[in-house]
Amino acid sequence: MILDKFRIDGKVAVVTGANTGLGQAMCVALAQAGAKVCGVARRSCAETQAMIEKDGFVFKEIIADLATTEKIPFILESVKEAFGRVDILVNNAGMILREDAENVTEEDWNRVISLNQNVVYFMCQAFGKEFIAQGSGKIVNIASMLSYQGGIRVPAYCASKSAVMGITKALANEWASKGVNVNAIAPGYMATNNTDNLRKDKDRSEAIIDRIPAGRWGTPEDMSGAVVFLCSQASDYVNGFTLAVDGGWLAR
Ligand code: NAP
Repeated sequence: MILDKFRIDGKVAVVTGANTGLGQAMCVALAQAGAKVCGVARRSCAETQAMIEKDGFVFKEIIADLATTEKIPFILESVKEAFGRVDILVNNAGMILREDAENVTEEDWNRVISLNQNVVYFMCQAFGKEFIAQGSGKIVNIASMLSYQGGIRVPAYCASKSAVMGITKALANEWASKGVNVNAIAPGYMATNNTDNLRKDKDRSEAIIDRIPAGRWGTPEDMSGAVVFLCSQASDYVNGFTLAVDGGWLAR
């Protein structure tokens, strides 16, 4: 039956940036859909853990800083040690730095590119090897409206999120025939720490809401349906696609 294809019972899912925001909501959604969830974060995921365990679902935290690719082997080993296998990877951890383009330093550029682009690619590679070996796996990368648009005062973020969409297509082309689905979700303007400053600026916030056909900021829970779909059998023939969850922003 069709709804059974959206269930991911017994699957093991890894979500980065699991302590807050979109990552937290996606951990909860995947757990509710049946997965055992490993949340990766550089600080405690106690809040996420409580949200999941209160309903009797399974969550394990892995503390690792993803500023560089160094901790990737540790993350993979920790997941396998905890649950013996892995089926789903959601590359969600990301950062944004706002600065006039002419003043962006090389250090800040590299920080953003390292986390948002290099770590995403090499997480895909490390987990992709496992998925290829077992003949199945689902990867969901978190892109952005700035995978499509240029933005203002966020050139490194725009470059990295455009790369996320490119990486998603490139890997799908090589791995679709090996049973590995690589897709992305491009969130619109969502109410999280990432957009705290934007939302505090009354004029910017109103201008943004005016431009969103749905007429409101997105919530972390708005990611739930899309991530479960892309991590489930229901999306087995979806490859290399970036799904916007944006209240219609791109349609304008
Ligand atoms: P958020 O609340 O700032 O969450 C970002 C997550 O990434 C946090 O868990 C953060 O951990 C983690 N992270 C940052 N640097 C890290 C590092 N060095 N090592 C490990 N984890 C690190 O923002 P969010 O909105 O939920 O963002 C989640 C993803 O969605 C990001 O990739 C973001 O670019 C993307 N996105 C968000 C929006 C939006 O409107 N909110 C729109 C488009 C795309 P800490 O809490 O420790 O910093």
